[in-house]
Order: sequence, then structure tokens, then C-alpha cells
Amino acid sequence: MSERTISLVDHRYAASVPAVPAQTPAPGSTVLDRLGRPLHDLRISVTDRCNFRCKYCMPKEIFDTQYEFLRHDELLRFEEIERVARSFVELGVRKLRITGGEPLLRRGVEDLIGMLARLRGADGSPVELTMTTNASALARKAQALRAAGLQRVTVSLDAIDDAVFRRMNDVDFPVATVLEGIRAAQAAGLSPVKVNMVVQRGVNDHQVLPMIEHFRGSGVVLRFIEYMDVGTTNGWRMNQVVPAAELLQHIEARHRLRALDPNVVGETAERWTLDDGSLEIGLISSVTRAFCRDCNRARLSMEGKLYLCLFAAHGHDLRALLRGDAQRGVAAVDDHALRGAIAQVWNARADRYSELRGAHGGEHGEPAARRVEMSYIGG
Ligand code: SAM
Ligand code: SF4
Ligand code: SF4
Repeated sequence: MSERTISLVDHRYAASVPAVPAQTPAPGSTVLDRLGRPLHDLRISVTDRCNFRCKYCMPKEIFDTQYEFLRHDELLRFEEIERVARSFVELGVRKLRITGGEPLLRRGVEDLIGMLARLRGADGSPVELTMTTNASALARKAQALRAAGLQRVTVSLDAIDDAVFRRMNDVDFPVATVLEGIRAAQAAGLSPVKVNMVVQRGVNDHQVLPMIEHFRGSGVVLRFIEYMDVGTTNGWRMNQVVPAAELLQHIEARHRLRALDPNVVGETAERWTLDDGSLEIGLISSVTRAFCRDCNRARLSMEGKLYLCLFAAHGHDLRALLRGDAQRGVAAVDDHALRGAIAQVWNARADRYSELRGAHGGEHGEPAARRVEMSYIGG
């Protein structure tokens, strides 16, 4: 085990079973949390498994052959995911993002996409349906995903140099296959493809300018993300973060940039374009400039636990409501009650971890051993 790696204490995170309230908001109601934030975005993690071992996410020392991944019967079935997603859409969610682990490893994920693509908001409008993937299987799956109703993909790619990329994914996976996946996604119409690079000082910060060079004129949107203190296994330190402001200076020393307006409220990226219009660049300052005030995202784990913040220590066990849990004296509920329970959980939400971390000079927060892993609730 490497010196800076902290052991994962428990991967079956604490979760309480939500109470079912007497009143359920009608479909189409706006539900607000305690800070007045509406529900807009649901990220659905479909597997805890991944074929990569990115050191900052699933370090090999922990996620090894001894590691106990969830059994298949512990995962939500597609019908269960669809039920939960439908409740969220009825409560105002407009955007669904499929993630993991590596979502393309979940067998038949395109069938799930097909089911989710048929969901409609209370006003009859379809939801936005996207996926975050490492793209290792995207070249094979892009067409089927598009045909099933996926609209866009975000591809994670931390370096354009093959040796650096192989080292970072820690399974010797070649960058060429990821690039092939990106091209296949574009050809299938999953556009615009976003490429996310998590920048770590001393690991891949020298790849920022080469990534820009590579993706100029390609039609992808390139986004640089501050390395976050998610989970407990990556031994995060503030000095490994390259602040977005520093990145911007670094890029501007080479390129002229023009600022773009944010697309929507709550968008996490500051948007720029190269002056000649050949590349849109996003900077996501999730550590140095908190964006909790507009955070309208909920996260559903592969086993049906609802998390209200990326840094939450506790989830809310929706699977117990879907299936019932005799041991805990919980009865299975109908869709009406499920929607009420979810609304009540959201109403009680007051999470704003990044703002609080910012107020404490960067290294404050929940004790590390209690936080949920990124590979468990996705990005
Ligand atoms: N396996 C898929 C992938 O890599 O795109 C989806 C799941 S992965 C957990 C989602 C995103 O989280 C990836 O873009 C990854 O780079 C990002 N991520 C993981 N750990 C992170 C950290 N500590 N800070 C910032 N981003 C992180
Ligand atoms: Fe896998 Fe994505 Fe985590 Fe890398 S970031 S280990 S690809 S889940
Ligand atoms: Fe949202 Fe939590 Fe991130 Fe703040 S720290 S932006 S509340 S996920």
C-alpha cells in the first residue's frame, strides 16, 4: 500500500430508510431544499466495477482481487432504476446522467437508456440523457447507445500522451482506444462530446497544453477539473490541486481566450473559447470556488442509495422502499409514496460541503473515513 493511501473503512455506506410522508407533491411540483435549491439533475451510478484503476479514484492497493464488489442481486434492476428516475422526473429533474464505476460495463446498459429515454416531464417534455464514461468500450457501443436514446457523452481522459495515460489508468490502457471511442461517439451523433481531464499537480498538469493542441478543431468541448477530495482512498492533499485560476493563466500564456456565457444556472464550468473559435474550454473550480449555492444534483448509487452531495457521509436507502425490507420492518411502497419520500428527503437537504471547505482554508470537512467513494456515486 502506498504511503499516502488511506484504507477504505466500509464500502456499504450508512443509509437510513426515508420516511413516507402523509402528503405527496403532485407531479410537476417544484420541490426545494432548505437552501431554496430545486431538484434538476440526477446522476445514476449503474455499477461499482471498472476496468481502469485510476490512482485517484480506484487505487489498485484497495480495489484489488480481494475487494468485494457488490453482488448482482444487490444492484438495482433496470425496472427499479426507471421507477426511481420517473419519480425524480415528476419532481422536476430535467437531466439524467448515467455513470459508475464504468457504466459501459453494466450488461445491457443500452436497454436502460431506452427505458429512461421514454420518460417525460409533467409538461410532456423529454429529459436530457447523458453518460460519463472512460470510453474504453465506446467505439463498440456508441451507435447502440445513440439508437437507444442517449443524447451526449462525457469522456474522461487525463492525458493525451500515451505513456502518461497508461500510468494514470494503471492498467496500461492505450490512449488510442479512447480517441477511437470519442470519434465513434461523434460519428454516432452523441455530440458535442465533452472531454473531462482531472488535473493533478506534478502528475498530468504538463498535459494541459498538449490536450488543447490535440482537440483544437475536433468539435469536442475540453474541460479541466480541479482534483477533488472525494472519498477516502486517494490520500488527497490541497497542494495536488491546480486551481482553475492558475490553469487559466497557464493557458492564456499560450492562447488568446474569449469568455462565453454560462449555458444554464448551476452549471459547474466557467466557459471559454480559443479566440479563433477552434476549441471550447471549460474550467471547473470545484475546490477553489464552491458552487454549492446553485447545486441542484442528486445521486443514486447502483444499490439504490440516494446521496444529496458528492461529499455526503450518509445515503437514503430507496431500495428498501422499492423492495421492502422485512428485517428492518419496511414495507414496499407504491410510486406515489416513493415520490413523497424522495421529496421529503430533498426538502431536508442542507449540504454545502465545498463552501464549508473553502471557508476553512481548503482542508476541512467530514472526517475522511466517512465519505463516499467517487467510483460508488460517480462524478
Ligand atoms: N468511469 C467513468 C469515467 O471515468 O468517466 C465514470 C465514473 S468516474 C467516477 C466519473 C468522473 O469522476 C471521471 O471523470 C473522473 O475523472 C472523476 N473523478 C474521480 N475521482 C475524482 C477526484 N478525486 N476529483 C475529481 N474528479 C474525479
Ligand atoms: Fe474507473 Fe472512472 Fe474511476 Fe477511472 S475515474 S477508475 S475510469 S470509475
Ligand atoms: Fe453540490 Fe455537495 Fe458539490 Fe456543494 S459540495 S456543489 S452541495 S455536491
